Amino acid sequence: MFEMKERAGLGRIGELRTAHGVVETPALMPVVNPSNLVITPKDLARMFGVQILITNAYIIWKSADRQRFLDEGIHRALDFDGPIMTDSGAFQQHVYGRVEVSNEEIVKFQAAIGADLGAVLDVFSEPDDSRRRCEEAVEETLRRTRDALEWRGDLGLVGTVQGGLHMDLREHCAKGLSDIPIAVHAIGGVVPLMEGYQFADLVDVIVASKKGLRPDRPVHLFGAGHPITFGLAVLLGCDLFDSAAYVKYAQDGRMITAWGTTRVEGLAHIPCSCPACHDATPEDLRADTERLAQHNLYVSLQELEVVKQAIHEGNLWEHVERRCRAHPSLLDALKGLRDHVDFMERYEGLVGGTLFYTGPESVWRPVAHRFRQRLLKRYSPPRVEGVLILPEARRPYTRAYSKLLRTLFERANAHAIVRSAFGPVPVEFDGVYPVAQSVVPDDLDLETVEASEVLLRQFLRRGYFSQGVMWEGEDSLEELSIRAPGPSATDMDKQRAEALANYQFGPGAADALLEGEVEYVKSKKTQKIRNVLVDGDHVLSMRARDGLFTLKLAGGKRLHKALPAPKLRVVVNEESSPSNREGKNVFAKFVVDCDGELRPLDEVLVVSETDELVAVGRAVMNREEMLAFERGVAVKVREGSPLL
Ligand SMILES: [Zn+2]
Repeated sequence: MFEMKERAGLGRIGELRTAHGVVETPALMPVVNPSNLVITPKDLARMFGVQILITNAYIIWKSADRQRFLDEGIHRALDFDGPIMTDSGAFQQHVYGRVEVSNEEIVKFQAAIGADLGAVLDVFSEPDDSRRRCEEAVEETLRRTRDALEWRGDLGLVGTVQGGLHMDLREHCAKGLSDIPIAVHAIGGVVPLMEGYQFADLVDVIVASKKGLRPDRPVHLFGAGHPITFGLAVLLGCDLFDSAAYVKYAQDGRMITAWGTTRVEGLAHIPCSCPACHDATPEDLRADTERLAQHNLYVSLQELEVVKQAIHEGNLWEHVERRCRAHPSLLDALKGLRDHVDFMERYEGLVGGTLFYTGPESVWRPVAHRFRQRLLKRYSPPRVEGVLILPEARRPYTRAYSKLLRTLFERANAHAIVRSAFGPVPVEFDGVYPVAQSVVPDDLDLETVEASEVLLRQFLRRGYFSQGVMWEGEDSLEELSIRAPGPSATDMDKQRAEALANYQFGPGAADALLEGEVEYVKSKKTQKIRNVLVDGDHVLSMRARDGLFTLKLAGGKRLHKALPAPKLRVVVNEESSPSNREGKNVFAKFVVDCDGELRPLDEVLVVSETDELVAVGRAVMNREEMLAFERGVAVKVREGSPLL
């Protein structure tokens, strides 16, 4: 029902299939109030390109229109051909404190009027509800979701994660919902957090929920209609949003922008050129609620397009970091992401676009975290005594420091690392993502300088080098040449290939891949390594774009022999392996298991259930996703291993 097409962190561009068409996610569902249509559903589709809308089944059920919706069906009654989600009224019942409709009645009603997706009547928890109360709400919500299966008919059920601000309950509720065969997950109980600007709590709630939710179902963030949080929520893995805000804000004389809200009474200029605004005067927007609502909807929909393009370009993190500077409470939320970096890292692709530093938070992005972690766990330094620690410089470092490095290797038995904003970088990694693709200001803020210092100390504690000198001018070179007399026999190509092989594939990989007569084929123009041949076999290529190795079949065979299962393995079933041997991609539904250390865009070995090498390729998903998804590619196969 749901398929991932592109990704950035937990964020994704996906396709949600319904009986009334395919929805591209992330998507915004405008809330339609059938008894007060400010913009008609027909116009929502025609003027705004809205793909899916949401309305409240409880309000319809209560209204005089109930029978008409039952007779005509919701699509005809609302005059909208696309998919429609309905809400059960859990929030309204919570706010007004009355239970007028049972779970059974409202689920059956949503199915009877022909909604595509419909919510179970969950039990809402407030942020300050006690643990006991939240526990009861969670258990009741899970029970009702299981019950609803019996009454759903063709209705795709929406099951909502509750649990208040008790993160373990959120995760528990999410896990419980994952075990129930429903169509869409929702995260509920967050409206009070947004109204109170508790964005840091919102981040914790979304992450706790995502930890428990299976990754192959779309996630709806209930009640998050202001575009200021769209980027952040998408980055954390939310796919669907609903907006009543476009009307409510307009009725209250408030103009929504992607970076905040402006009152129309104080409007002297119009900071927008959407179709509703382009020829409007401030007076027009003050006088015309419908026009203001149109504007609010245009900018909300546009922000999701901006977010999708950011996913496509690989710079969603930059986008979110910039948006989160729009409000101090959002900045708190952004800083809070650091607490979740280990979880987020599992879903982050190995490669993105250029990394623009936007502030001290940039250093904690999952890609930078992974670079440091893999370096700490997998780095193989050259066998030298000393190390010279150089300050940040233009990329690539080996070019910026080429003269200095030549002198260093002549005079000292030493290596060099750069104390970059993102952490220490041995110079042989200067062409590798994300180091080479990062852009930092010349003048770094103190917080980043301090973080860089801490990360450097952590790295040096591994004890790779017995003598270390911090660059402070020519004297430093002199000092190092006395403490670790040279020259050093550093072969930069060899060091680059060995260090990178272990960094990408794990300890022992360099020995397995590079044992024998090694030949480096280099680009004539850039002098960079292009291909690595060992004993005449092409084992590795290096991608110019990110400086990382791609694995050829000959290299895959070497790694398969040297590294025990489950390392680097994606295990496919018998049905899949013949076509993978022919070079066809691996689909997620055929994956039996996968190395939990693999990340999206890592190079992998595709193997049979008896661990025979079937193909080499590049993962598109992580383990959790490969095991959950029924649709989509799990591994892009580069070379199959034909049966002889
Ligand atoms: Zn506008």
